[in-house]
Amino acid sequence: MSSRLEFNTISRSYGDTEVLHQISLTVQPSRCVALLGASGSGKSTLLRIAAGLDEPSSGEVVVDGENLDGVPSEQRGVALVFQKPLLFPHLSVVDNVAFSARMAGQSRKVARDHAMAYLKLVKLADLAQRSSGRLSGGQEQRVALARALARNPRILLLDEPFSSLDSRLRDEMYSLMDDIRAELAPTIVLVTHDRREASVLADSIAVLDSGRILQHGPVAQLHYQPATLSVNRILGGLNAVPGNLADGVHHSALGRFPVQPGLRDGPAFLTVRQEAIRIIGPADGPATVTVTGIKSLGAHTLVHVASLGSRSSAETLTVEVPGDPGIRIGQHVGLQLVNTTGWAVTQ
Ligand code: ADP
Ligand code: MG
Repeated sequence: MSSRLEFNTISRSYGDTEVLHQISLTVQPSRCVALLGASGSGKSTLLRIAAGLDEPSSGEVVVDGENLDGVPSEQRGVALVFQKPLLFPHLSVVDNVAFSARMAGQSRKVARDHAMAYLKLVKLADLAQRSSGRLSGGQEQRVALARALARNPRILLLDEPFSSLDSRLRDEMYSLMDDIRAELAPTIVLVTHDRREASVLADSIAVLDSGRILQHGPVAQLHYQPATLSVNRILGGLNAVPGNLADGVHHSALGRFPVQPGLRDGPAFLTVRQEAIRIIGPADGPATVTVTGIKSLGAHTLVHVASLGSRSSAETLTVEVPGDPGIRIGQHVGLQLVNTTGWAVTQ
């Protein structure tokens, strides 16, 4: 199950509209890459192309060095799990999972024994004989996963498979994915519009925006070192403070924050993450600011601050602090970066 998948400059047009533009992405064996993007960004189209359910207008899909151009879907060794599980409702759970082995000519006994091993993995062995029309949403999706894995695919493609489940069931599926990865080490492409899901499940995230990959990198890099304002926004970064860079320091009404090396002097946005800033005493840090808003998120609180006397809403910064920070609007506080230098982008 541990093959290497490459998309080489894949484009796809429908009529005059190009929905994928020169997508290049490599997924190393046994790694899980999340394709993160808004609805309509082209995620499903790219998965369908990998699965052989759609063809690129140009570019190629390569698995373990083999160009899959012209290879029919069922011969690709690529399994796709959809948001809707698409089980055969008249078949039992075990026969759904055994289906492709039966189609390949295995005896009923061999196919069912093989299927049972995968039902154990997804913790549904107890329900093997149940009609699959009588399962809950979470159980159906486990069967769909078992059915995909039982085909022993070279690549496992998941198209928003957990998005219709409630948050508790979703967390259960995340821990099941950990078990599957530990046991079988499949190469996975996970499509999602949920940045938390991408961060929990994947080793790396590729951000797709209007058919283009904006950045692909390890999960932490996408959060703390976004390439652009769009990536910062898509990963949930709340800060984009306009200012100027000079000698590796970002200057704005909020203060002077050292940022990463290698950027040219000139206009730039400070995108330091809300979790990477601490509120300290007013005279202690590189900046003294006023608290302009406080929003409780339950276990966390968002604190909005602005420069003293600021009138521009652009020059606010949001800080996420654990629990209740015990501060009030109008109070003067200092800011300090936690375990990091600042991060700035120019576009
Ligand atoms: P996502 O999965 O990210 O929501 P899709 O890959 O489904 O996005 O769609 C990307 C874009 O391609 C959308 O604008 C969609 O309307 C368009 N599209 C997808 N499939 C077709 C098709 N068969 N014909 C025409 N347009 C399509
Ligand atoms: Mg989709």
